[in-house]
Amino acid sequence: MKKLVSLFASIAMGAAILSSSAMAADKGAVGIAMPTKSSARWIDDGNNIVKQLKEAGYSTDLQYADDDIPNQLSQIENMVTKGVKVLVIAAIDGTTLSDVLKKAHDAGIKVIAYDRLIRDSGNVDYYATFDNFQVGVLQASTLVDGLGLKDGKGPFNIELFGGSPDDNNAFFFYNGAMSVLKPYIDSKKLVIKSGQEGMDKVGTLRWDAATAQARMDNLLSAYYTDAKVNAVLSPYDGISIGIISSLKGVGYGSKDMPLPVISGQDAEVPSVKSILAGEQYSTIFKDTRELAKVTVSMVNALMEGKQPEVNDTKTYDNGVKVVPSYLLKPVTVTKANVDEVLVKSGYYKADQLK
Ligand code: BGC
Repeated sequence: MKKLVSLFASIAMGAAILSSSAMAADKGAVGIAMPTKSSARWIDDGNNIVKQLKEAGYSTDLQYADDDIPNQLSQIENMVTKGVKVLVIAAIDGTTLSDVLKKAHDAGIKVIAYDRLIRDSGNVDYYATFDNFQVGVLQASTLVDGLGLKDGKGPFNIELFGGSPDDNNAFFFYNGAMSVLKPYIDSKKLVIKSGQEGMDKVGTLRWDAATAQARMDNLLSAYYTDAKVNAVLSPYDGISIGIISSLKGVGYGSKDMPLPVISGQDAEVPSVKSILAGEQYSTIFKDTRELAKVTVSMVNALMEGKQPEVNDTKTYDNGVKVVPSYLLKPVTVTKANVDEVLVKSGYYKADQLK
């Protein structure tokens, strides 16, 4: 009997220790809503956030929405119902979340806009992102370098592509790029033969490669039967892939007809390989490990009732409020620094890029 009692006592003690350590490990749930798995960067983002949140003692609910707006809405609604403490959201369409965010706010849930600004809602607490204007500046600067415009070369023909018009970032990238390209366009060192300028004309809904490829096909057949295109501003690696396929389809990519200088963004593996093969000219690396780190530190601060660290309180007006933001620095990648920026930093293994 004595033995039995002590056995029960030690089982009870064990259970108590277990449950207290489980409680220490669970500081509450964080809902993470990501747009799509069709691009590797969002998969990396999701994995990095989950890993770091778990290490910090939170449980996580990570959802991808297949770029479908109602799908993302219902995923977020679910998270609110389940009682997450914080929502981390990379929106598909930054203007469609007002109602669910109101519900989140009423339930005391804090909201962090992740990478993409959530617009038209007062219930966005913080924004973790990169300097999006600077992304565009860097993209266009690589075109200027690749063409040798600063050495006085030119004139050159250029065509412009923008990102998805429902993503606030797309306008920042485009405006940043145009701040660099405009003087060359004005002095006719850069000529847009199609005349298509402005996000309303050059935007690519949902950042879709096939949409970009179709537009490039049209541009080539309408404006480039007698002339060559020398540069293409592309806001994202997936779009660059579509543009390159289109160009190759009419014979670019040979000795007599080299590919134009083409930019990109996200340093996704297929595009880094394309850069190494001398096809795409550049991409912009945004270290998703760092963005996850900033986000997790925002979550921690919010959970402890402290103010998250921000470094920009002016730029990101979402139509209702200026959302306090932390902006990370984007980095240019060309063939010359792939190894230094992407491999030495441990972001990719050298083998992945072969
Ligand atoms: C992100 C980019 C990405 C694009 C397409 C933007 O909101 O900032 O990094 O290339 O979405 O996924």
